[in-house]
Amino acid sequence: MHTSAIVLFSGGQDSTTCLAQALSKYERVETVAFDYGQRHIVELQSRLNVLREIKASFPHWAGKLGEDHLLDLAVLGQVSDTSLTRDVAFKMESSGLPNTFVPGRNLLFLTLAAALAYRRDLQVLVTGVCETDFSGYPDCRDDTIKAMQLALSLGMDKRFLIETPLMWIDKADTWRLADTLGGQPLVDLIVEHTHTCYLGDREHRHAWGYGCGQCPACELRARGYGRYREAG
Ligand code: ZN
Repeated sequence: MHTSAIVLFSGGQDSTTCLAQALSKYERVETVAFDYGQRHIVELQSRLNVLREIKASFPHWAGKLGEDHLLDLAVLGQVSDTSLTRDVAFKMESSGLPNTFVPGRNLLFLTLAAALAYRRDLQVLVTGVCETDFSGYPDCRDDTIKAMQLALSLGMDKRFLIETPLMWIDKADTWRLADTLGGQPLVDLIVEHTHTCYLGDREHRHAWGYGCGQCPACELRARGYGRYREAG
């Protein structure tokens, strides 16, 4: 029986929905994020705002929400040259992957989250990776995650479960899931406080939240929200 989890929590729509689900399922939930010189400090600020708002608006979850961890991963900047860590515009490469792709980044995140879970005696790792997402990062695929679950469980001699609530759903369903978990107050919280825009835009407010409205992350979020609203 699993009672505790650590959520890879970036402060975006996806990981906030995963956090809500973990809080609805488990007794003790901690959060972790990685600081690797993201261009936009906006993301790190958003996650703190989301945690604060969850505690304020969902008292029955607040008591379960434990420590928040921020791990310094500046080393990623040394091995990558991408638009998330340097001032380069987002574009698709000939490989079919966006230039935001940092090889093995998610493997590293999961390994560090597992190490933290080991030390904190947490059983489940929760991550918002998704195969239906446009980006198709190979280290976010279901097979990769299953292989990581096995490798981490063997390598640390502790039985980890890696949970991926969003693996097979699209962005409209992610909004629906938030609605199911926390109703309109959670949907409102996600609209207002989570951040997904690649350009770090917090000036332009849309029905679906803040963002430039043009980058792939904004487009995906806006389209998903539109379909979620249409379906009612
Ligand atoms: Zn944007």
